[in-house]
Amino acid sequence: MRSDEYYMYRALDQAHLAAAAGEVPVGAVVVDAQGEIIGEGCNAAIANCDPSGHAEIRALREAGKHQSNYRLDGCTLFVTLEPCMMCSGAMIHARLARLVYGAAEPRAGMVESKANLLAQPWFNHQLAVSGGVLAPASQKLLKRFFAAKRDAVN
Ligand SMILES: [Zn+2]
Repeated sequence: MRSDEYYMYRALDQAHLAAAAGEVPVGAVVVDAQGEIIGEGCNAAIANCDPSGHAEIRALREAGKHQSNYRLDGCTLFVTLEPCMMCSGAMIHARLARLVYGAAEPRAGMVESKANLLAQPWFNHQLAVSGGVLAPASQKLLKRFFAAKRDAVN
């Protein structure tokens, strides 16, 4: 297993791919217990006309295929932005061991910002959570993306 920063840089690579495709720049990777990246994904909701096309969901799908198992025991998901409600739910279904995220998402983040969904006692699975890893790099990418969008409208 390498450092959290190493894997977050791989997630940021995915976020850059999303930005280049005109999608909100969020990227994710899933890492197994040995430290191998077994799934990666960038936001592709617009291109795929898919409301569930978030980076985390796409990385989890790839990891599940890789493992031939929807349960990703011992795996860690690295994502550049605090997950939403849908992705938090998917991570619980996947029985991930750990979530590592970058920037907080003050408007819709469901891990610390709007709610602490992953820590609810009624779920039969708990994940370890670390936030703020390489957050400035993620924030910079998001700010640049939305600034360019505003310029295009004005
Ligand atoms: Zn999401």
